[in-house]
This record gives sequence, structure tokens and C-alpha cells, in this order.
Amino acid sequence: MSGRVWGISCLLAALLLGATATRGEVVSDGSRLAGNISIGKSLRVPPAHIPDGYSSFADLNIYLTPGNSPAPDRIASAFRLAQNKLDACRIFLRVRTVNYVIGPPLLSEWESMEFDNGLTPWERAFFTLTPRRSAGVVFVKRLDWTIGRNGITAVGYGGYIEEETDYLKTPRDRLFYRNHMAGYAVLGRSVGESSLIHELGHALMGLRHVEDRSNIMFSGLLARDEDPGFDKRQCAKGRANHPWIRPVSDRQMVSARPFPRD
Ligand SMILES: [Zn+2]
Repeated sequence: MSGRVWGISCLLAALLLGATATRGEVVSDGSRLAGNISIGKSLRVPPAHIPDGYSSFADLNIYLTPGNSPAPDRIASAFRLAQNKLDACRIFLRVRTVNYVIGPPLLSEWESMEFDNGLTPWERAFFTLTPRRSAGVVFVKRLDWTIGRNGITAVGYGGYIEEETDYLKTPRDRLFYRNHMAGYAVLGRSVGESSLIHELGHALMGLRHVEDRSNIMFSGLLARDEDPGFDKRQCAKGRANHPWIRPVSDRQMVSARPFPRD
């Protein structure tokens, strides 16, 4: 099964049009992230028809931080590659919204709980604005990890992290993670071509790292074999990873209501 060509022209048109939906969140952290974070223009992409042959699908929201938007053709090509890999799993990716984030410039030097072993003001402020139990990709300048270090340019917030790490210190943090952060990937500008699908493997499909170099979930980007993919077991696990991946038969039940708030 070959990947259906993505609604690229549609996405590009949407990037140029736009309706405004502003919601604000004041961050109380006084050091690096003081200021107001809000979602500026939010573009709702009409739902793509899910072609025959796909049993499951995932809806994604894209968030672009100021000055860090990869060129639309680069985004489109990364998603095409991701779709190509997900064809083996019969999972179809749809972009539902493209959102412009308004926030302090340092928001784009993304700080993650994995850097300081606790939910960060970055994460708490930003993910308060994302729809509950949604999924997507945040494009930033770089991850804070990458300052002075090489090689780590992206993070995927898999649902399993809630149970398996001590990054989340309180039941409240774990609930916040489950409802707002799980399902999202954050990509720096210098990510490799296959990073999007690797991080979506964590975030959307709930997959952990593997030792097999021919697998996309091998952790070392540079040491991965050429053209790595998912295996059958990973595909099955991904297809069952509700609510981020859902059976195609569910698509009518999914409301297009874009920003449910809790
Ligand atoms: Zn990884």
C-alpha cells in the first residue's frame, strides 16, 4: 500500500489563511519564561478522507513557535515520510489544526521534565493550552538539552512515561501529563529526517526504545540502519494506543470540536 499523498496544498493554503482563536496563560515562573503564552492564529484543516486500506487513524495539531517554523515543504515532507512508515501499520495521519504560538522567545528553547526531573513551567504553561487528550507536534528552535550537547533534538511524550519514570512528582502532575502532554512530540530545528516518526512512535503509539538498529525506535539516530521501520508487534501496540490512535470506524464519532477545555 502506498501512502496517500497528503493534503499538502490544503495545508499550505491553511497556513496562509487563518482564523484567530486566542487563549492566554500567564506563566508565573519569573526567570526564563515570564510572560504571556497564547495561541494566535489557529487554522482548522478540513478532515482528510481516510483512504481504503487503513484500519486506524490519528489526528494531529501542529504548533509553530515564532521564528521556528520549518518551511511548509519540509513539514510536508517529514509528514509524508512518517505516513510512509505508518502505512505498514495501516495507521493514517491527519493534521486537524495548525496553530501559531505567541510566547516569550525562550519558549522556543524547549525545557522538558527530562532535563530537570520534574514537570517544567515550559510544559505546564504550554500544555495547558492544548486540547485535552489530543496529540500533535510542537516545532521549536531547539531543546534545552541540546545546549552544549549533541544529538538530542526532539522528545516524544509517550503515555507510558506517566507510569515509568519519576519525572512526574505528584498525582496532579501525572494527571496533567496524561490529559495534556501525552501524545505530543517536540522537535527542534536541527532534527534528522526520521525524527518525526521516531517521536510519534513514542508519543502516538506508546512505543519504547528497542535494541534493533533496523527499527525506527532504536534510540541512536545516527546509528540506525538506513530506512528503518516498525515491526508487526509495534504496529499492533500502536493501533491499540487509545485515544491517540483510533479505529477508522470511530471517525464519525469524533467530534470536530477543536478545543475542548477541562
Ligand atoms: Zn526516542
